Amino acid sequence: MKDLIKKRIETRLDEFFQLSSWLYEHPELGEEEYQAAELLSDFFASEGFAVERGIYGFETAFRATAGGRKAGAHIAFFCEYDALPQIGHGCGHNLISAMSAGAAVGLKEELEEIGGTITVFGTPAEETNGIKGILAEKGAFEGVTAAMMAHPNVITEESGTSLALTALKFEFFGKAAHAAAMPEKGINALDAVILLFNGVNALRQHVPSDVRIHGIITDGGVAPNIVPDYAAAKFYLRSKDKETLASVIEKVKRCAEGAEAMSGASCKISRFENAYDNLRTNQTLSNLFTANLKALGETEVHGASDGIGSIDIGNVSHVVPVIHPWIGMGNGELVIHTKEFAECTITEQGKETLLKGACALAMTAYDVITSEAAQSKIQEEFVSFCR
Ligand SMILES: [Zn+2]
Ligand SMILES: [Zn+2]
Repeated sequence: MKDLIKKRIETRLDEFFQLSSWLYEHPELGEEEYQAAELLSDFFASEGFAVERGIYGFETAFRATAGGRKAGAHIAFFCEYDALPQIGHGCGHNLISAMSAGAAVGLKEELEEIGGTITVFGTPAEETNGIKGILAEKGAFEGVTAAMMAHPNVITEESGTSLALTALKFEFFGKAAHAAAMPEKGINALDAVILLFNGVNALRQHVPSDVRIHGIITDGGVAPNIVPDYAAAKFYLRSKDKETLASVIEKVKRCAEGAEAMSGASCKISRFENAYDNLRTNQTLSNLFTANLKALGETEVHGASDGIGSIDIGNVSHVVPVIHPWIGMGNGELVIHTKEFAECTITEQGKETLLKGACALAMTAYDVITSEAAQSKIQEEFVSFCR
């Protein structure tokens, strides 16, 4: 049966590749992916999926569902389709969409016989606002047995971990004054921002090695002869788990309080993007995926490494069992988040990556739907995570 699924995907590979290539030609930034969401929603509708557009208040999110008559496991695939500024699809999200489209279409016909349900979630803004996190919070994944996607990368690697991330904006409000004639009348908001950076830099020595704190100054005054009455900085704070991250956030907030006390400026702290949770890979599901990938002829599957980035499927992994494996593309010299990586998605190598990803996803979903033993093992492992 798995051979049949593979054959079906192979036969229609050009169509899936065309979806990816069209997305490459029409890159859109996070939460502005109107054309991408329309293209994919129309595609799934034409394939007989029940499509809901603009779900949970996000205009560029969608959900496409298909199911057999028999009840059974519920598999979620994800389409990502946001691009990067200037670089376009340098993260290869066009291929992610095509892989999930291929997997869903390849498996759909089997559902009549094997039962179960597939839902493809179109999830905007992976690079910026992590809409999967909000969908998870709103209960979009309730009832899902296993959720999966594959991401193109430089090498093929098993699903691993990613860092929890919080995006904080620090705004300092001071008082303007002539910087030379009446400096004593001013309260310097830029000084407060610089003091915050200095405090954070002192903190670096005393955090675990997985913690990452990196920021930029977004507002630093308007002219040297005016004491800046407003200055602001944006920071990403990351750690391998939410608990450590929470303690780091508290410490960085205290740095901001120190900067307030020293400068006299007052500080407002807000979250400027949604928080990303760390990814917890479901190992049982991951092993099924890796076995399928190897059966497809992938010889070099690297073991999971500690991810040092943050991905919004991390949030999903705290509510349902998840994998996020990486499929290699190119000659090993590519760097992700570059124009060269984007260009590779529309080559024969990109097509090959698409085929492997789509087939392995569909075959893994098939394994889960057709094995109650696999379902309970996946669930047991997930529950033991949550303890
Ligand atoms: Zn990326
Ligand atoms: Zn990505």
